[in-house]
Amino acid sequence: MSGIENKVVLVTGASSGIGEAIARDLAAGGAAVVIGARRVERLEALKAEIEAAGGRALAKALDVTSRQSVQAFVDAAREAFGRVDVIVNNAGIMPLSPLAALKVDEWDQMIDVNIRGVLHGIAAALPVMEAQGEGQIVNIASTAGHQILPSGAVYCATKFAVRVISEALRQETDKVRVTVVSPGATTSELAHTITHAPTAAFVDEYRKQILPAEAIARAVRFAIEQPADVDVNEVVVRPTVTT
Ligand code: NDP
Repeated sequence: MSGIENKVVLVTGASSGIGEAIARDLAAGGAAVVIGARRVERLEALKAEIEAAGGRALAKALDVTSRQSVQAFVDAAREAFGRVDVIVNNAGIMPLSPLAALKVDEWDQMIDVNIRGVLHGIAAALPVMEAQGEGQIVNIASTAGHQILPSGAVYCATKFAVRVISEALRQETDKVRVTVVSPGATTSELAHTITHAPTAAFVDEYRKQILPAEAIARAVRFAIEQPADVDVNEVVVRPTVTT
């Protein structure tokens, strides 16, 4: 199956920012979108907006740190729409801080959401796609998966890991397309997770030139709408003017 129309696309972290923009864009293109995050009221508002525009959406509470929750998310998609064509593992957090600040709980949270969350998405979706004989796993990494940012030891490590896992998966399967989309600074709520004040101030400055979330949605759509024998492996999107 190629194109966007009638594909069943799951998007984790669809309650704000990039995930919300991806879901809105794909639904407008005719996909049935299954949207997950913890803030269900935000998902319900997005679902209502998509349906009012004539699209199809299913909203489901999701915590990607829980394997059971991700499995239930994929099961709900299959129950509602019969298949899973694409999962966009987008949910992520970015509480940047220098290692010496010892924000060890935040290191753990980043590992749980940004790495384990992606692995849970793969664990739930891959067997379905292998059985279907086709599917696509889109993982949202970052330019922080290409370069190490100040105060970014753990966050960058998680995003390097997403690229490593994605490339390994790509090498292991002939049925499932694997795509990494690596955004540069993009409008969203991501920087709200920073609790280390000097880092928050630095990031405000760093993020002066910023992409709209719709730019990342277009990159995801480009990868999904290719013919089934074309696997866009990675797209890196940065603002034209960099700081
Ligand atoms: P936002 O903070 O706006 O969105 C993050 C999303 O992840 C929210 O929908 C949030 O929903 C969800 N989320 C967080 N924790 C969990 C969880 N445990 N279970 C399920 N969902 C969760 O940030 P972005 O839109 O920017 O982030 C999306 C992705 O893009 C992330 O992976 C981020 O690392 C990546 N990225 C972003 C860049 C940027 O500059 N914005 C640059 C490069 C990469 P809720 O809180 O409701 O659960």
